[in-house]
Amino acid sequence: MKSRKEREIDTPRVILKRGREEALLRHHPWLFSGGIARIEGEPGPGTLVAIHGSDGAFRAWGHYSPHSQIRARLIAWEEAPCPEGPDFWRARLRQAFATRALLAADPATTAYRLVHAESDYLPGLIVDRYGEVLVVQFLSQGTETRRALLSELLMELLHPRTLYERSDVDVREKEGLAPRAGLIAGESLPEPLVVQEHGLRFTVDVRSGHKSGLYLDQRENRRQLRSLTKGLVAAGGPPSLLNVFAYTGGFGVYALAGGAESVVNLESSEEALAQGRENLALNELEQVSVEDLAGDAFQLLRDLRAQGRSFDLVVLDPPKFAHSRRDVQRAARGYKDINLQAFHLLRPGGYLFTFSCSGAISADLFQKIVFGAALDAGCPAQIVGQLSQSPDHPVALTFPEGAYLKGLLCRRVA
Ligand code: SAH
Repeated sequence: MKSRKEREIDTPRVILKRGREEALLRHHPWLFSGGIARIEGEPGPGTLVAIHGSDGAFRAWGHYSPHSQIRARLIAWEEAPCPEGPDFWRARLRQAFATRALLAADPATTAYRLVHAESDYLPGLIVDRYGEVLVVQFLSQGTETRRALLSELLMELLHPRTLYERSDVDVREKEGLAPRAGLIAGESLPEPLVVQEHGLRFTVDVRSGHKSGLYLDQRENRRQLRSLTKGLVAAGGPPSLLNVFAYTGGFGVYALAGGAESVVNLESSEEALAQGRENLALNELEQVSVEDLAGDAFQLLRDLRAQGRSFDLVVLDPPKFAHSRRDVQRAARGYKDINLQAFHLLRPGGYLFTFSCSGAISADLFQKIVFGAALDAGCPAQIVGQLSQSPDHPVALTFPEGAYLKGLLCRRVA
């Protein structure tokens, strides 16, 4: 064990510019390159650095990333103990797992996010559970250089059958990291891999599916669709659903399980639609009327309108349109367009679930966009639900950027 004095000599220091400490004092986990006055020592990628104020006082510990605008991701604000070594990581991981205790106790749901990076005080680390398979993403230099330790700890703490890596995501580029995917430990991936969500069954393509296989963040909204569908069935008749940006048909499966009469899926990926067919079979729903339209949703929505089609329920769950603040205007036009088309296709008395997963689009702006779309479509509508990401995607109060998924449940009144 090194003494504190020796560590102080070893550990590179990052000294902040005067007046650039505010975010850090609020325990925001990102230190941008522009806030740094100078560096003492020679930190490499992922090195633990001590962050000091312009007055020389200790402020926080972080992981250094020489190529990223986010020059350090901060992990601790107390000087002692030093946040390095297995005990620190074990405690942080356990804390993240404890946040999922309710989910872990529910046998009807076996797929959920166990670690949500910055929002779980584990910057740059994502861990998703699919039954006995864990899928991990190392998204920062800090977690990349601790990959072996973190993998060992995941095996030790959770005993998964398979630990698989899906670090093949664009954000790694910003950290100067190449994509990587493949088996880390345990047995090879089970084929097929089937999980449960609120008692429904889904196949997961961990190897090449989007995200780590499923859009886990929409689980509670899918459940809400099932509840609403059941309510509509009880109140009158089985509704029809238009599921736009359907991926593997999750929302459709929930609506059918709730008694929906029919589903139309719009999705650009033929593979995802094919997997959606497997999901119908897994839930014994293949007898129900399901129409899959492969192609560009912007065009397909117009085609449906030209055909005079209409629906009782519409789900709009597009991919991220705004990747940064620069994209906001263009993205807003995209959201406006699909929402306008959706309102045109929605029957009076029908419900629209509309989402944006763009962090750069605020909830307030999103509501304005949806309002503009309803107005232009000539559809009076009410908001009857505010939707967000499921609780296994928590939001740390110190990191409001973590609240990325927003949605509105709107009812067309006439
Ligand atoms: N609702 C899904 C997740 C949707 S993610 C679920 O609950 O699982 C967004 C989906 O939109 C992706 O599957 C992607 O392939 C698809 N997509 C992206 N651009 C598209 C476009 N222009 N037209 C149709 N689908 C598109």
